Amino acid sequence: MERVYNFAAGPAALPLPVLETAQKEMLCYGSTGMSVMEMSHRSKMYLEIFDRAQQAFRRVMNVPDQYKVLFLQGGATGQFAAIPLNLLKTRADYADTGNFAHGAMVEAQKYGEVRCVTSSREDNYTFIPALDKDMLSPDADYVHITTNNTIFGTRYSAIPDTGSVPLVADMSSNILSEKVDVSRFGVIYAGAQKNIGPAGLTVVVVREDLLGHARKDCPKIFDWQKQADADSMLNTPSCYPIYIAGLCFEWLESLGGVEAIEEVNKEKAALLYDLIDNSRLYKNAVRPDCRSRMNVPFVTGDADKDALFVKEAAKAGLVNIKGHRLVGGMRASIYNAMPIEGVKALCEFMKKFEAENA
Ligand SMILES: *Cc1c(COP(=O)(O)O)cnc(C)c1O
Repeated sequence: MERVYNFAAGPAALPLPVLETAQKEMLCYGSTGMSVMEMSHRSKMYLEIFDRAQQAFRRVMNVPDQYKVLFLQGGATGQFAAIPLNLLKTRADYADTGNFAHGAMVEAQKYGEVRCVTSSREDNYTFIPALDKDMLSPDADYVHITTNNTIFGTRYSAIPDTGSVPLVADMSSNILSEKVDVSRFGVIYAGAQKNIGPAGLTVVVVREDLLGHARKDCPKIFDWQKQADADSMLNTPSCYPIYIAGLCFEWLESLGGVEAIEEVNKEKAALLYDLIDNSRLYKNAVRPDCRSRMNVPFVTGDADKDALFVKEAAKAGLVNIKGHRLVGGMRASIYNAMPIEGVKALCEFMKKFEAENA
């Protein structure tokens, strides 16, 4: 069977060259005579794979020296709890810009005083509400944002200035898709299964001065300081996803890094939004200045037509394009691994479907 264009929101498509390398190395990695999945995480060979992935991530993300990079488990959702467990002393401020942003805030409320400083929930999260320095509590331990809202298809077009309050960002669905000045953030975290690699790995980038403040009852696997001291190996890490993620980082470098893929990502998103804006059939509900480049939701306004679209698209090899139940319609997730050819194929299909169904 031929490979399809997979528009899934996550776990999402991986770069074909990465899968091919993994296939080649599947049974015997290098001269070890075994698969990466079978190696001890303490073995010399595996530690080399681990370090190589760490170094490649630091290069593609341009991580400054005073930040630790942790390769953890538990997903972004695990970090929803780990963040207050590591940082919350007095109070924390949250921007409520989507379902995951809301979930992060609700989880933090279990651990202390949490304030929702800005929200677009009443408008079904169709835009990113303003977040200014003077809206923040002066004594906040941190402010939390979600840089790309996967379900609603919104994105911060500029990183808010939070002054001296550390900025903590869930970048699960747009990390490595565009240039980011890491030094603007206290903590950046992401589940791997959108734009990094396979599910099972969670990347946490944390500024060193924010380490060592965890509550006493913080589970040790969520304690960033303890994980940093143990090189992310307090327990068995997600060995195989880390190996694949390392291949993905090197693949990204081979294309020219984040700077180069950002241009492709802009072009991919523009193809879809231009088509939607010039169509009589498709609509995107997001305020134009807040549109995501990674997740493009659209509807026809007719549930039966939406269902037909999803069915016919799958027949044409364009799969997993059904929208999230909170938005309905369709959603094309077009992360780094989605080639522009896939987006062009989707555009052709959308035009044909419109001609037949508008
Ligand atoms: C997918 C996603 C999550 C949840 O990630 P898990 O790794 O499944 O916990 C959280 N935040 C955002 C922005 C996401 O896209």
